[in-house]
Amino acid sequence: MRFVNADGRGGLLAGDEVFDLATVSGGEVSADPMTVITSQWEAALAAHEQGALSGGTPLASVRLGPPVPHPGACFGIGLNYKSHAEETGAEIAAEPVTFTKFPACLAGPHDDVVLPAGKAMNDWEAELVFVMADIARRTPKSAALDHVLGFCCGQDISERATQFAGGEQFSMGKSFDTFGPTGPALVTLDELDDPARLHLRCAINGEVKQDAYTDDLIFDVPSLIEFLSSVLTVRAGDLCFSGTPSGVGVAQGQFLQPGDVIDTEIEGLGAMRNTCVAEA
Ligand code: ZN
Repeated sequence: MRFVNADGRGGLLAGDEVFDLATVSGGEVSADPMTVITSQWEAALAAHEQGALSGGTPLASVRLGPPVPHPGACFGIGLNYKSHAEETGAEIAAEPVTFTKFPACLAGPHDDVVLPAGKAMNDWEAELVFVMADIARRTPKSAALDHVLGFCCGQDISERATQFAGGEQFSMGKSFDTFGPTGPALVTLDELDDPARLHLRCAINGEVKQDAYTDDLIFDVPSLIEFLSSVLTVRAGDLCFSGTPSGVGVAQGQFLQPGDVIDTEIEGLGAMRNTCVAEA
C-alpha cells in the first residue's frame, strides 16, 4: 500500500492517481491521516486489498502533505553511514546518535524549503524515514520490522551554524519550519523487493550529491527500533529519519541558496522535489 496525505485527507496512491480512503472504504476509514495511521491501519490495508478502485483523482491535481502530518515523536539519527561519519571527521559511535526533529518542521514532498533569515549554512541530508506502529518497550531486533508501518523519503534539512552553536543543538538546527520534507507516500514493506537495501539519491539543481544504498547504515532499521524502544515507548505514527550518507554540503563548502532545487529519491519509495526560498 502507498498511503498519501492528499489535500489533508488519507488516500491510496496507485500509478498517477489518488483514491480517497474514506470514499473507497464506504466510510469505514476516516479521512484524517493521523486517525488512519494511529488506529485504522488494518482497515486501510483491507480497503487497499479489495482492489479494483475507481474514482481516482490525478496526482498532479492534489497537494501532497507529509504522509504523517502530526507524529507524536520524530526521531533523527546522526552519523549513521560510515561514509558520512568519515566526511565529518566524527568517530563511529557505539550507540545511535539520536536527536529530535520537532514535528512542526515536517513538510510535504513538493513543498518549498524556507531558508531562515540570517542563517547561511543550510544543508541537505537525504534519508530513509521509517514510520512505526505501536511498539512495546524493549522490542528485539528480530521482531522489529513487524512493527513498521512503512517507509518514505525524507530530507533532514540542517542549519549547521545553529546545529553546532553553544556545543551541539542538533534538535534546533534541524527543526526550522519546513526542514522536514517527507513523502511522497508511506509505502508498506511488501511493496519493496528488498527493504534492507534501497538505492538513495539526492541531487541539487540536477547535480547528484548523494548516492548510496541503505545497507550501508551502521545501525539498520531493526537495530534503531531496538535502541529507541530500549529507552521509551514508541507509538503508532512516530517516525525516524535514519541518517544520511556522504555528500552533504558542509563537507564541500556548499550551502543551499534561494532557488535551489532539491531532488530526493529512494528506490521503490518515489521521489520528492523541494525548492528553496528565502524567508519572507
Ligand atoms: Zn540527518
